[in-house]
Amino acid sequence: AKLKKGLTKTRQGIAGKVDQVLRAYKKVDEELFEELEEILITSDVGVQTTMEIIDRLRNMAKERKVTEAEDLKGLLKEILTEILDMEKSHDLNVEPSPAIILMVGVNGVGKTTSIGKIAHKFKSQGKKVLLAAGDTFRAAAIDQLEIWGNRVGVDVIKHQEGADTAAVIYDAIQSAKARKIDVLICDTAGRLHNKKNLMNELGKVSKIVDREFPNASKEILLVLDATTGQNAIQQAKIFKEVTDITGVVLTKLDGTAKGGVVLAISSELEIPVKLIGVGEGMEDLQKFVPQDFVNALFG
Ligand code: GDP
Repeated sequence: AKLKKGLTKTRQGIAGKVDQVLRAYKKVDEELFEELEEILITSDVGVQTTMEIIDRLRNMAKERKVTEAEDLKGLLKEILTEILDMEKSHDLNVEPSPAIILMVGVNGVGKTTSIGKIAHKFKSQGKKVLLAAGDTFRAAAIDQLEIWGNRVGVDVIKHQEGADTAAVIYDAIQSAKARKIDVLICDTAGRLHNKKNLMNELGKVSKIVDREFPNASKEILLVLDATTGQNAIQQAKIFKEVTDITGVVLTKLDGTAKGGVVLAISSELEIPVKLIGVGEGMEDLQKFVPQDFVNALFG
């Protein structure tokens, strides 16, 4: 129910319009496919992914001899679920303990908020959680993380503004080992303007993690803002080049009618979406389950 509410805008933007068109057309014909194509493109599904979806839909309708427009909805749901599923796991790799999660993404996308929400999620499962303030570029980022740490009730390892991110994460790992922490969640600086810098910085962090925490379960989560649409795709392409992203956290889905971007991420980038943000509160983070997502979208 919460997922459905969080997707209200996207439901109106995609499912609402699809329903309208299917009702208006009654029978399946080429013009109908063009209308559906238009809806997907304007919902930030992306041109390439939209073409793929419509081609598959056209073929499937032909194969199954579907002639009633209303019956296309079921086929569309099937195709969307398959694209989102990617035959990849959407679970966070945090078992066995200890686990380390590196959070990457540009400023403003909701990285700090997502760290807080993830920390809360694990803490309420009874896990011991520690945060590392690795975004040392901005003092505000460190402060914000501490606010979330207090709110959730978990400690934050921090250095001063301008300190070396890798050094903060090194300290956090030592602390996590000493305190027998289950999940260490690390913030990192999100400056995209210099790709080489970003690569060096994240490379250095990865090396520290591999050396100091070799047996930890690992995740590198890229945080993307759903309201930025195709911009999010561009960011993802750059981050994918510089580091081994294992999953996406897609934030602010509640704030956009263009949640179709989740399809573009899955299909164009081949990175599984693992979590979605549907609000500003501590509880407003959901595990991404393709079937549930599609059902909530069209339900
Ligand atoms: P950061 O700069 O990437 O660390 O971004 P923040 O975590 O500070 O978030 C930026 C703004 O986005 C804040 O006002 C958050 O409350 C808001 N935000 C983050 N995630 C979500 C979400 O899922 N939904 C909504 N509506 N707002 C969000």
